Amino acid sequence: MNTIYITHPRFVEHELEGHPEHAGRIRAIWQALDAEGLSSRLKRLDAPPAIVSDLNAVHEPEYLNLLAQVSRQFRDQTVLLNPDTYFTPASYDVAFLAAGGACAAVAEVLLGNARNGLAVVRPPGHHATSDEAMGFCILNNVAIAARFAQRHFSVRRVMIVDYDVHHGNGTEAIFYDDPSVLFISTHQSPLYPGTGALEDRGVGAGERTTINIPVPPGHGDQTYAAIFDQIVWRAARRFAPDLILVSAGFDAHWSERLSNVNMNLTIPGFAHLSRELVRMAEELCYGRIVFVTEGGYHLDALSYGVCGVARALLGDPPASVTDRLGAAPSQRTDSNALIQRVLDLHDLNK
Ligand SMILES: [Zn+2]
Repeated sequence: MNTIYITHPRFVEHELEGHPEHAGRIRAIWQALDAEGLSSRLKRLDAPPAIVSDLNAVHEPEYLNLLAQVSRQFRDQTVLLNPDTYFTPASYDVAFLAAGGACAAVAEVLLGNARNGLAVVRPPGHHATSDEAMGFCILNNVAIAARFAQRHFSVRRVMIVDYDVHHGNGTEAIFYDDPSVLFISTHQSPLYPGTGALEDRGVGAGERTTINIPVPPGHGDQTYAAIFDQIVWRAARRFAPDLILVSAGFDAHWSERLSNVNMNLTIPGFAHLSRELVRMAEELCYGRIVFVTEGGYHLDALSYGVCGVARALLGDPPASVTDRLGAAPSQRTDSNALIQRVLDLHDLNK
């Protein structure tokens, strides 16, 4: 069966020159998917706009009204929603397409029209909370897609894995007390936005359905593979998801130079993580998995990273992923104590 690939030409209209989250990012992804012969192997659909009732399942009506109001008021001017998140005259529509693209990929998979899916969207979403734009993010695309799956399909349990180098604070907050969504984040610590402490593991009925894995700077492929092998697989099997969503950011690549980012994954290292997630979906939920793009500001690392995701979804072998950027300069590997602390805290020891 097919892999659905959802994007939209209008994603380039959200643009601010000189900003790290610029339109060249998505152009680089489109070009790399074409150049590697992957676009033609995927079932391509244009993202539809999200509908307001699907956004309301995650975002406060007051926040959505504010976005609509800003959009009406500044028809020919780019404004800042906060110091690092810009909003152009097109951003309202584009943000709706990003959320709608994630939902449409989920719908295609859950309707059985596709085996699995890739939503190449922007602006990213995982820092957006229910009532605030943050960290380049306006609407929380992956959270909206998770609720969309629960509201429109017979999906009860959704696992969201976020391997962007930054903590997905918005996604965490939205599902913090919700046992039906397992949120697992690997992120560099310390780093923006400063959330994602290991001890933060959900509240009330949602206790232990948030798993934070804050990784010190300098780690790379080996540490992440061990985290997936020893923590993510066990947590996934215990949770038994009906659907897996991935916040796929590629800023943990060794070449990334966004402020204070210092993680050392490689392109094959990312591809391994993506293949593992696809394998989890195959074992646990009929292969139902959708990757939604988040951060990644080194254009080659970002675009080759997304190609690795496409190959994982298509079932291509590891050898198909070529590493044009090469090995990391170094990789810390002392992760045993961290992994053991997570296992203990979440009662995941075998
Ligand atoms: Zn990021």
